[in-house]
Amino acid sequence: LPARYGAGEKSVWVEYIQLAADYKPAVNLGQGFPDYHAPKHVTNALADIANGDNPLLMQYTRGFGHPRLVQNLSKVYSPLIGRELDPFNEILVTAGAYEALYSAILGHVDIGDEVIVIEPFFDCYDFMIKCAGGIPKFIPLKPKTNKENMTSADWVLDEKELASLFTKRTKMLILNTPHNPLGKVFTREELEVIADLCKKHDILCLSDEVYEWMVYEPNKHIRIATLPGMWERTITVGSAGKTFSVTGWKIGWAYCPPNLMRNLQVVHQNCVYTCPTPTQEAVARSLEVELSRINSPECYFYSLTRELLPKRDYLVKTLKENGFNPTIPDGGYFVVADWTKLGDKIDLSSESDKYKDYRFTKKFAKEAGVLAIPPSAFYSEEHKNLGENFARFCFIKKDENLALTEKLLKEWN
Ligand code: PMP
Ligand code: GLN
Repeated sequence: LPARYGAGEKSVWVEYIQLAADYKPAVNLGQGFPDYHAPKHVTNALADIANGDNPLLMQYTRGFGHPRLVQNLSKVYSPLIGRELDPFNEILVTAGAYEALYSAILGHVDIGDEVIVIEPFFDCYDFMIKCAGGIPKFIPLKPKTNKENMTSADWVLDEKELASLFTKRTKMLILNTPHNPLGKVFTREELEVIADLCKKHDILCLSDEVYEWMVYEPNKHIRIATLPGMWERTITVGSAGKTFSVTGWKIGWAYCPPNLMRNLQVVHQNCVYTCPTPTQEAVARSLEVELSRINSPECYFYSLTRELLPKRDYLVKTLKENGFNPTIPDGGYFVVADWTKLGDKIDLSSESDKYKDYRFTKKFAKEAGVLAIPPSAFYSEEHKNLGENFARFCFIKKDENLALTEKLLKEWN
């Protein structure tokens, strides 16, 4: 492998999805996807397209995004960002949010450019930056306290440390709100600190907002692109997989001003060219349904959060009652929990992984039958120790599987 790929050969997803296939844990709370049906109108849209009478929906569509989809994305986001988004020059449809991140990073980061990354971070950022020849500069979110009932808001950045990371070579900062894995929803004040630094040093902000619709009251999702002076330097990323609970469709997007979009388009037109037409058409039709009820509580953008809240609270309670110390997430569908109090109940010596959280999650999956993700995968090499005491559990799962988790944890304890 080219040396610039760094530690990218190891992927927690490849390893843990294989682990799930090999060990068949009774419940898989690892990779983030729902184990139940997406909304009927969403899956029906795809069925109608497959069985419908428009043969062209089975053929290539416009490279930068199927027209009906970019038009509907513009209708969704224009009011949210307070400006009319040009569907054909300011939106790009991609192969999942992954490819939006890839096109943004490969399109803008040059050899030797520095990119500021907040830890823990969605693991592909590091690889993509290195792939572009850039240099990631990491800053960890740290818990202000380790009290019981900690929330994701207790994980904060040190402002001085953040300011000290900016140099003449800094090109971009990557933000992820709501945050994977912590569930942190950055507040306006926190975003202002980040925005002010981006403006002061004239750098880009890549804002990964795939969990934008999963925010628990009273928290509010704030799009950093709407802060003064930020639209012109922000690339925002979203995901149909997360928005409509169809992660297997792998449709995502980016929106930003046309001059920034040009660089993403160049990567996309040469690497992917165009995304699947049937799923783009189905996402477009699904957005139309939600737009028609955007002010109603029935709109899936809001009903999903209502559906997830009791699942979050149930999993948090289950973890707490069984020796974990979970951080209650304000957004997203993961809970990060400290497992160290269980340390003397579990013998990790049979596991050979370098990091304790890998050893813990593997042994725990074998003993308790519940699979979680090791968060050290979301830290740079030098900070992996910060993730080692934790495990990440996904709660967008059937109630019966969350109940089974409770039963298995009780039995194991
Ligand atoms: N960013 C974050 C923070 C994620 O958790 C994920 C996984 N959904 C992605 C990007 C990639 O999204 P997609 O499945 O649409 O490629
Ligand atoms: N975003 C999802 C997660 O964090 C899926 C990751 C993946 O499939 N690579 O679990």
